[in-house]
Amino acid sequence: MGLACKISGHKWSGCLCERCGQTRDAGHFWDGCKCRRCGRVRDELHDWDGDKCARCGKKRDVTLPEFKASMSF
Ligand SMILES: [Zn+2]
Ligand SMILES: [Zn+2]
Ligand SMILES: [Zn+2]
Repeated sequence: MGLACKISGHKWSGCLCERCGQTRDAGHFWDGCKCRRCGRVRDELHDWDGDKCARCGKKRDVTLPEFKASMSF
């Protein structure tokens, strides 16, 4: 933590402190499953490319019936 942040608190811009670069778990700029600012990943809105998320690399089980149904169109 920088000295200025120690004295007056972080200068939060969403999830990222503009001064020292510290991150917090609030105010993320979600781009699908990934935060554009801090790179944090959430388990929502993945960008599925088959069985893998193109953004975060998470894998899913495409053999489950609900995935087969969602991929059929
Ligand atoms: Zn800070
Ligand atoms: Zn973030
Ligand atoms: Zn993802």
